[in-house]
Amino acid sequence: MSQASLQTVTGPISPDELGPTLMHEHLQIGFPGWEADSLRPGPNAAERFSICVDRIEEMKSQGITSMLDPCPSDLGRDVEFMARVAQKTGFRIVCATGLYKQSEGGAPYWNFRSNFGPQVDAMAELFVRELTEGVGDTGVRAGIIKVATGTGALSDYDRAILEAAAKAAVETGAPITTHTDQGTLGDVQQQIFTEAGVPAHRVIIGHSCGTSDNAYHLKIARAGSYLGFDRFGLESVHPDAERVASLVKLIQVGAGDRLVVSHDTVWCWRGEPFPPPVLAAMGEMWSPTHFSQHIVPQLKDAGVSDAQIETLLVDNPRRFFAGEKLRALA
Ligand SMILES: [Zn+2]
Repeated sequence: MSQASLQTVTGPISPDELGPTLMHEHLQIGFPGWEADSLRPGPNAAERFSICVDRIEEMKSQGITSMLDPCPSDLGRDVEFMARVAQKTGFRIVCATGLYKQSEGGAPYWNFRSNFGPQVDAMAELFVRELTEGVGDTGVRAGIIKVATGTGALSDYDRAILEAAAKAAVETGAPITTHTDQGTLGDVQQQIFTEAGVPAHRVIIGHSCGTSDNAYHLKIARAGSYLGFDRFGLESVHPDAERVASLVKLIQVGAGDRLVVSHDTVWCWRGEPFPPPVLAAMGEMWSPTHFSQHIVPQLKDAGVSDAQIETLLVDNPRRFFAGEKLRALA
């Protein structure tokens, strides 16, 4: 039994209680500005509730018992909604504090605020509060910090949210998970966190499956962080066949203890960022049961054992949240 406790939207648990866990799925996402689109509000609250309950029942039918919804604070997050869904389904949901990348998050607000005080401090203050006391007056506490970077060189804003995440993680001991684009800048994220004093094993470099670059994967794995292979089914971003091949390679060299899996599905969009035909074309594969139904058989065909698959789904999320150290990887 680990001593550490972990905050879910319905209260603290031991990481041992997680069971098979998907480490990156979303009940709902709203890009800042969605509120203005009165023409296309998206599904109403009752519709969203029933969509999310159905999705979770599908996951439960595949043996999944817990998930992390790493929606940052500025992307349409609603922790009370998450708690209602968790209560209804008896499912464990961990929510996040944090901020999204400059191009698609709440940058205008935080840039405006920075006219009147240090930006990193203001962001970190929010993260710490949501981790230790709760989100607003909901009493729901975040269990992790989520931050993100875009493509190309790291922007000043994206550096600020990474530094704020590191500051809050050092102060509270909370873990961090990230978004990366096209499998880039994950190594830079890792360096910023660890140089600020965050232990590498408290970090998941998310969407690492956006590239098949084995050297990039190994660099992050050897430096002691987890890699998120967390976009299975998102063929439009990177093909699953490549994700499977990259995952197998990492397991073969002994990095299977630092990989977490998921799909990054979004069950309800606020507003209508994708025209319905585009969303439909993203297909049935972009489902939170895709890994269990379609990827596990492919891994087995490639020689991955049941025990190694259990490590991905059960042991690694537990060890990550428990804050246990990872062994050195040759
Ligand atoms: Zn995501």
